[in-house]
Amino acid sequence: MQNFEYHNPTRIVFGQGAIARVNDLVPATARVLVLYGGTSAKKNGTLDEVKAALGAREIREFGGIEPNPTFETLMEAVAVVRREKLDFLLAVGGGSVIDGTKFVAAAVHFEGDPWTILETHGANVTGALPFGSVLTLPATGSEMNNGAVVTRRATQAKLAFRHVSVFPQFSVLDPTKTYTLPPRQIANGVVDAFTHIVEQYLTYPVNGFAQDRFAEGLLQTLIEIGPKALAHPHDYAIRSNLMWVATLALNGLIGAGVPQDWATHMVGHELTARYDIDHARTLAIVLPSMLQVRRDSKRAKLLQYAERVWQITSGDDDARIDEAIARTRAFFESLDVTTRLADYNVGADAIDGLVAQLEAHGMTQLGEHNDVTLDVSRRVLEASL
Ligand code: NAP
Ligand code: FE
Repeated sequence: MQNFEYHNPTRIVFGQGAIARVNDLVPATARVLVLYGGTSAKKNGTLDEVKAALGAREIREFGGIEPNPTFETLMEAVAVVRREKLDFLLAVGGGSVIDGTKFVAAAVHFEGDPWTILETHGANVTGALPFGSVLTLPATGSEMNNGAVVTRRATQAKLAFRHVSVFPQFSVLDPTKTYTLPPRQIANGVVDAFTHIVEQYLTYPVNGFAQDRFAEGLLQTLIEIGPKALAHPHDYAIRSNLMWVATLALNGLIGAGVPQDWATHMVGHELTARYDIDHARTLAIVLPSMLQVRRDSKRAKLLQYAERVWQITSGDDDARIDEAIARTRAFFESLDVTTRLADYNVGADAIDGLVAQLEAHGMTQLGEHNDVTLDVSRRVLEASL
């Protein structure tokens, strides 16, 4: 295994009824900004439950954080925090609201232009307001990690930042709060979590035996429960497992001591920024072609993935790799997540622009070997048509 340092300070409070615990988790004297998205948290009662748990604390609300949260909207929340002198943030929603809250937390006391937090990928962050989250959508792992992705509407730039100060202090995971999710978002969640695991597993072997088994177990769990989560929206066993797998997929545990890829995510971000395709749906388009184009450098792990995750044992090496990639694509399609750019009316004429965006955002040496150049990304996009 490679050397690593691992510290995850986020407290997870899991289970039906867990939102009541917000009362113990938020300091009694806190002046709280409750951040949420569109209408879902209001409609399904989650917001009311959170407000009841906050009791007599001084609170303000900030709704309207959009999927793929924008810098423009989040800066309005920053202004509210500054004006009202609030000192604690509580995100109620999915990855977009939690990511947005991380940015607000880091931006409130930031000196200078907060957009540079994204441009430097967090290198210039000096601290953040404390915050917690109440998760309503299992997908991103944002509830237990220190990363966030923010889009600048004006320039169509979707950039990520990380900083040690933006781990949530706590995250409340009540699986029953996912019951109102539309099928599209459940499918997205399965695909996003699946891809997070693959990006930390399907690289090259470093004798991370336990890490490999963790990753394979989580992938197999998603293959098992993904279709059931769609078929049985009120099945607590399925939803609770999905929620916990999505958190484990990106809370740092399975990535410790092993190489990480992330090229699929970075290319996917450009597709969302330019064509407004859901995050997970961009991953379903990019991942199969990414594995195909980079099959030589990923060969050993692709063979392991074929055997251990998909139980593919017959055929020569190349045939088994082909089959594993085909099964991956078929799994996404079985969840009704399409895997081709053509499904979104994006054609070959779009590729120059996408490659230019990658270049403008410094995405010129991606992947576990830093060898995913613009040329490689171009080939991946061509293979995704
Ligand atoms: P999301 O963008 O947070 O939410 C998608 C939609 O689901 C929204 O329209 C939302 O509606 C709805 N929704 C949420 N909870 C619901 C519920 N319980 N019932 C019904 N509808 C509900 O989706 P996401 O996939 O969690 O987050 C995607 C973002 O996270 C992207 O920007 C992506 O780049 C980022 N991301 C971050 C990380 C990370 O590590 N930080 C990793 C991967 C991806 P309302 O707006 O009405 O609430
Ligand atoms: Fe993701």
